[in-house]
Amino acid sequence: MVENSRRAVLGGLGAGLAMTLGPARASAADRKVGYAIVGLGYYATQQIMPAFASCDRSRLVALVSGTPAKLDTFGDKYDIPASHRYSYGDFDRIRNNPDIDIVYVVLPNSLHAEYSIRAAQAGKHVMCEKPMAVSVAEGERMIAAFRQAGKKLMIGYRSRFEQYNRLAIDLARSGHVGPTRIITADHGFPITAGQWRLDRSLSGGGSLMDIGIYSLNAARYLTGEEPVEVSAIESTDRNDPRFRTVEDRINFLLRFPSGIEAVCVSSYSSSHNSYRVTGTGGWIEMSPATPYAGQAMSIHRNGETTPRTLPPGKSQFAGQLDHLAECVINDTTPIVPGEEGLADLRVIEAIYRSAAERRHIALQAM
Ligand code: NAD
Repeated sequence: MVENSRRAVLGGLGAGLAMTLGPARASAADRKVGYAIVGLGYYATQQIMPAFASCDRSRLVALVSGTPAKLDTFGDKYDIPASHRYSYGDFDRIRNNPDIDIVYVVLPNSLHAEYSIRAAQAGKHVMCEKPMAVSVAEGERMIAAFRQAGKKLMIGYRSRFEQYNRLAIDLARSGHVGPTRIITADHGFPITAGQWRLDRSLSGGGSLMDIGIYSLNAARYLTGEEPVEVSAIESTDRNDPRFRTVEDRINFLLRFPSGIEAVCVSSYSSSHNSYRVTGTGGWIEMSPATPYAGQAMSIHRNGETTPRTLPPGKSQFAGQLDHLAECVINDTTPIVPGEEGLADLRVIEAIYRSAAERRHIALQAM
């Protein structure tokens, strides 16, 4: 239930006591939405959970994990009462917890659909990490389940809440360097062995599902268009023990309806994090483009290259959390709903098909 946080009013009093006082005395401006985090791995504990401290509309109210020691450690750290700590086995009991408005699914990819749908059926809104699911069919099932439950589904595309990426979108789409002709977008890192990302049954695929999706998503958000044609090549050393079930490199070309082309890198054996939007009159470069912090932009126009620096703003993590909270408060649709995750999955499946069949794949207009 969306309720009013009295933390500001109560000063030093604990959150537990604040909750017992009820919503009556707080103003609408103080309202905070309650999140439950499912999966206490690296991304949840090191990036997402610390971000609640800088949120205006969101608060962490519950944790779900299969590891009791993690529930103890993080439950204590974030003042989560025992009644709000769940194992996967009793996940569905979240239905009875009115403090939980939104469930944030931060599990391995193949578990996203199941836990998101169960959360919707328990009457909760969901923030689901990227990739939304491991297939188009799963993504469609998720969207149908949320429609039926009347709940909101948002995908964790954090760069859409990062100020340099937002500026890049505005500049690219408004023709700051002339109409866009080519986008290059490169993402990759050398992956270490022994993790679920390298097990197809948990990841759904290799570098493309995990990191190349940033190249794809950037090409789509920088153009504001959906690709109509895809061509891809895959290069994987199947003797490398890391790549027994998933791909290493899969590089791809996208053709957009306006004639823009995107040339994209996805790699699990080399480091990349940048994109460049080249227009008829110059280019906008982001390098790095999508890290957790430290984005850097430069713009080339009239023969000169100039760095573009913005004053520090709200973190992309807090921005993302608060966006869905505001959508819940105001009953509006997130800017990155389930359909956005599904659009990426449609192209991902076409990229895999193109590489496997060694031919261009046409995509139907959405
Ligand atoms: P991680 O391995 O650090 O955490 C995964 C968590 O899931 C662990 O706590 C693990 O115990 C739990 N889990 C539950 N069931 C499991 C099972 N059957 N097998 C393995 N683990 C299981 O992974 P992570 O890096 O936190 O990634 C989690 C999700 O977050 C992925 O979908 C990933 O794509 C996404 N992610 C997004 C970003 C981003 O910037 N948006 C960054 C990192 C990860």
